[in-house]
Amino acid sequence: MDFKDFNFSEQLVEGLSSMGFKKPTPIQEQAIPAIMDGKDMIACAQTGTGKTAAFLLPVMDDIIKSSGDSISTLIIVPTRELAVQIDQQLQGFSYFTPISSLAVYGGGDGNTFNREKVALTEGADIIIATPGRIITHLNLGYVNFSNLRHLILDEADRMLDMGFFDDLMKIVRQLPEKRQTLLFSATMPPKIRQLAERILHDPFRIDI
Ligand code: AMP
Repeated sequence: MDFKDFNFSEQLVEGLSSMGFKKPTPIQEQAIPAIMDGKDMIACAQTGTGKTAAFLLPVMDDIIKSSGDSISTLIIVPTRELAVQIDQQLQGFSYFTPISSLAVYGGGDGNTFNREKVALTEGADIIIATPGRIITHLNLGYVNFSNLRHLILDEADRMLDMGFFDDLMKIVRQLPEKRQTLLFSATMPPKIRQLAERILHDPFRIDI
């Protein structure tokens, strides 16, 4: 299989080549067509499998082709490091596209918070956020998810280990019900299954 088989938009293919991506990894081969079909997904996958590109590429392709309003995609992650890492990969892929992104995480000083507030109010296509920080912005009314089409939870088991179950549910309640939800986790303990039952609709399953 080749990245050409997905019929991604030309600008995205250019970004992919510039990042040195030639062939999809197994999780990308399975996940990308299902995500492009609009399905919800639960994927058991470790870091290093190419899971980040597996969700970024189809979502970015959808944003380019639908030219919808922002904020179209929310990616929730356990840590600031992961938020930054995903945003870096995203910026590489989006170099030739008009897609905008913003990473929002705890820590930093008042200036960081204000910069996030301004950027969130202006909107971006894709927000990558830690749970606590996005809740703060939601509570203050700085972020509007009424146009959201894709929700992604990455490293969901780590978020639950850190005690974020209630925060995640609080965020999800503020999102449109009609959306695509993708859940990635390295392990599948019962709490993940409970979360999946509450937020996914008839999901496609992947185990890498
Ligand atoms: P991840 O599992 O998403 O953390 O990705 C692990 C690493 O593999 C990252 O540095 C990616 O840039 C890289 N990677 C992912 N998919 C591919 C691919 N199809 N071709 C080349 N490198 C890839």
